[in-house]
Amino acid sequence: MKVVVLFGPPGSGKGTQAEVLAKKFQLKHVSTGDLFRYNKENNTELGLEAKPYIDNGKLAPDELTTKMLKDELQRNSHQKGFILDGYPRTTSQAEALDAILKELFQTEVNVTLALHVEDETLVQRILKRGITSGRSDDSDENTIRIRIKEYYEKTAIVSSYYKDQDKLVELEGEGSIDDITAALSGEIEKVI
Ligand code: ADP
Repeated sequence: MKVVVLFGPPGSGKGTQAEVLAKKFQLKHVSTGDLFRYNKENNTELGLEAKPYIDNGKLAPDELTTKMLKDELQRNSHQKGFILDGYPRTTSQAEALDAILKELFQTEVNVTLALHVEDETLVQRILKRGITSGRSDDSDENTIRIRIKEYYEKTAIVSSYYKDQDKLVELEGEGSIDDITAALSGEIEKVI
């Protein structure tokens, strides 16, 4: 079981890249953002609980997010590996992920690929995406800036968790989608 974590601020291209890489390497793409949106649209209990956080650009509670993630991994235990997008977003989630991977698959994260993108580029990308995505958290500049602030306050530190374990690779997230895919693919090939 191979586990690749895609890491970076909102709008850094994790979702776009994860989709391409999942196909290329036959990994299951698991996006906590997509899982939350699915639950929100279907008015599940979990969706209702997460809604106020998502709509206000805040991180959902760790416990809720981790339970959702674990269920999804468990449901996909037949897969040959995962590409995680949007999880872990706090150090406590990173620790929970280690425990879950050990418990379910006796495995660990193979590599964390971090995408670097300037803040103003992030805001412009997300506003542009908001025109077509229909995501409530993509259309309001204030909410977008809160999401970026949440990233720096709670998520950015997670990179040191992986750096300390020699599992972090930092890459440029600005440039053509194909060039970034090629750079990410090169790193995945080293561990797969
Ligand atoms: P983006 O990366 O574009 O900000 P996502 O689709 O990954 O967006 O996530 C959308 C929202 O879902 C986040 O702003 C947050 O409220 C919630 N969310 C997603 N993943 C997590 C997580 N690991 N922990 C807490 N909240 C999360």
